[in-house]
Amino acid sequence: MRVTGYKSHGVGAAAALVNAVTSAEGDDGDEALRTVLADHGFFVDGFTPDTAAALRPWARTLRAFFEAGSLDTAVELLNGLLTDVPMHPHLADHDALGLHLHYAPPQVDLAHRFRATTLMNLSELLCDHGIDRIGVCAAPGCDRVYADDSRGGRRRFCSDACANRTNVAAFRARRRTR
Ligand SMILES: [Zn+2]
Repeated sequence: MRVTGYKSHGVGAAAALVNAVTSAEGDDGDEALRTVLADHGFFVDGFTPDTAAALRPWARTLRAFFEAGSLDTAVELLNGLLTDVPMHPHLADHDALGLHLHYAPPQVDLAHRFRATTLMNLSELLCDHGIDRIGVCAAPGCDRVYADDSRGGRRRFCSDACANRTNVAAFRARRRTR
């Protein structure tokens, strides 16, 4: 099911926001959060300190989804949020995507738009791929989350840097035991 051209942008934005706000090395300053939104295709003209203040608790809420561990827990959590966050689907035709569906109308504030988009995109990811596409980075000492919307879906790390670091450590451990 793909109802919007914006699918992967909300998924990536959700993981990036969670990492900015909740990970040990994240930067949850106003400017850093504005950059997260801009980097994932949101129109950030309306971004204010109030937007940042509204996004921080949303990041902590979404972290529980990435840590859910089981499909039942993830579904229950998203269903609760889908009840809490008002949705007002809206057809938009403002760029190269052509006619597409937004989950909030243009007049709502940016934080609300971000909540609606990330929530729907994560719900679509769960419908399409189940629980295996989300998680916390498998690298020792890393607390960043990831969401995998690639074709292969084998991602276990938040970044190439963490994947490489872990693979090198495993290689050295194997060599020591020989
Ligand atoms: Zn990592």
